[in-house]
Amino acid sequence: MHFTGTVYRSPYWPTWPLLEITQGCTHNNCKFCTMYKDVDFRVSPLDWVEEDLKELAADTPDARTIQLLSANPLALSFNKLKNILEMINHYLPKMEYIYTVSRVTDIRNKSVEELKVLKELGLREISLGVESGDDWTLERINKGYTSADILEQCHKLDEAGIAYWMTFFNGVAGREHSKQHAINSAKIFSQCNPICVGTGGLVLFPDTPLLEEAKRGEFDPLSEKEMMEELKLFVENLNINCNFITHHTSSINLSGANFLNRKEEIIDGLDYLIKNGNLDTMARIRANKVSL
Ligand code: SF4
Repeated sequence: MHFTGTVYRSPYWPTWPLLEITQGCTHNNCKFCTMYKDVDFRVSPLDWVEEDLKELAADTPDARTIQLLSANPLALSFNKLKNILEMINHYLPKMEYIYTVSRVTDIRNKSVEELKVLKELGLREISLGVESGDDWTLERINKGYTSADILEQCHKLDEAGIAYWMTFFNGVAGREHSKQHAINSAKIFSQCNPICVGTGGLVLFPDTPLLEEAKRGEFDPLSEKEMMEELKLFVENLNINCNFITHHTSSINLSGANFLNRKEEIIDGLDYLIKNGNLDTMARIRANKVSL
């Protein structure tokens, strides 16, 4: 199998099979991210993809799911993706459910009709690393799209029937803009139909522009308590029923299905953490992370 650099895969998805069809990230410019700093974006040669599929066909001929790598395989054109999905179905004929991660911008150059074709070929679920629905924050962290782009591209996925996750990146707007980040993100997310909203907290990794800005006093990071307060504000303003997952490590499990049914419970849990949680331990666990 061909894998380039560190393999990042969804922890919520079967660990195998994986198929690398692109390397690195087309953007590689978000101010907080180190994931693909050492890997240039490249489209994997088609003969590599085919060799890997032959290997998977020999090892896991009955595979019904597969995860496409790396940061944003959907950056490929419709025709290239169609070709690869057809190859997957050829070598793994029982394939039912293809999953990948994507940037919001990767959907732009595909029509709803093209997305429907990709869905028919098995592309069923996408994780969108949205991070914020607040335009000031999106520009501040250099995401390369606006809240209007998020709405437009998510609505295309809705129309095509492709399921998607959206992430809210807790803390990434810093202290200065925390409230607007929480409220405007919730407003934008609430106009979409994700199957899951996931939240994680900011860690300032070495060699990131955001850490350098923090050192110069140009970025003011949230404390663990402020992170919980921001998450609470986001939850209070989020009004869609979906799964809700948080990567914050605390004594309370806030993750699960039926967000709207559990919303008050989640808010109570966050209130408890704000007032009584072991915030130092949570901050220590978060600080030990080595990558997103
Ligand atoms: S956060 Fe995602 S889109 Fe941004 S640089 Fe990292 S991998 Fe690329």
